[in-house]
Amino acid sequence: MPRVALREKAARIRDVLDRLYPAAPIPLEHEDPFQLLVAVVLSAQCTDARVNLVTPALFAAAPNAAALAALPYARSLRLIRSCGLAPTKARNLKALAQQLVAQHGGAVPKTFAELEALPGVGHKTASVVLSQGFGIPAFPVDTHIHRLATRWGLTSGRNVATTERDLKALFPPESWGALHLQIIYFGREHCPALRHDASRCVICSWAGVPRRTPPRRGPPNKQRTRSTP
Ligand code: SF4
Repeated sequence: MPRVALREKAARIRDVLDRLYPAAPIPLEHEDPFQLLVAVVLSAQCTDARVNLVTPALFAAAPNAAALAALPYARSLRLIRSCGLAPTKARNLKALAQQLVAQHGGAVPKTFAELEALPGVGHKTASVVLSQGFGIPAFPVDTHIHRLATRWGLTSGRNVATTERDLKALFPPESWGALHLQIIYFGREHCPALRHDASRCVICSWAGVPRRTPPRRGPPNKQRTRSTP
């Protein structure tokens, strides 16, 4: 698709999302960037709703980096046990808090490089913290956003890194944070797990690109089949 047409399509998608979600709330409850960082780490392989059930007790026991660094591993494991991968997360959170105290005076840093150097923090987590915690333009791309951006033809869909680059090129930086949330909410509310009628969808009906179906297997090639002597 020509670049201009692609930009127009992106702008139209943004209009639909703005109309549907004029003020998409941040789903993870937190009071400051530290608590947001902890909640995002906990949200890997876990629902936001589950994280929001777990964090009140965790933040009561450890409201800041110094307190979390001092919290015994066994106690934090007990507090987050219902989240997936709890032992790994408890270990990472303790090490992360210790690193925040040792290297950043207990504060959450505001750069990708410093955030991604923290235990358990990848590029997507760093993007969420920068965007939602500090209002710094970043476009967190998870598998859901990657799938929808591909479905809407906004990216070649090779991997999440390519999708992030393509989306950043199509949308203005001031819209990235809201779009991340809007696409997540859209996917949760509109995209069912099973096949459905895309012609009724407010976006896919005009923006969707056909799914690539794998080539059908034909009958075995007789010429290649060795005949029995
Ligand atoms: S057609 Fe289906 S997959 Fe595509 S955006 Fe709409 S609801 Fe989601």
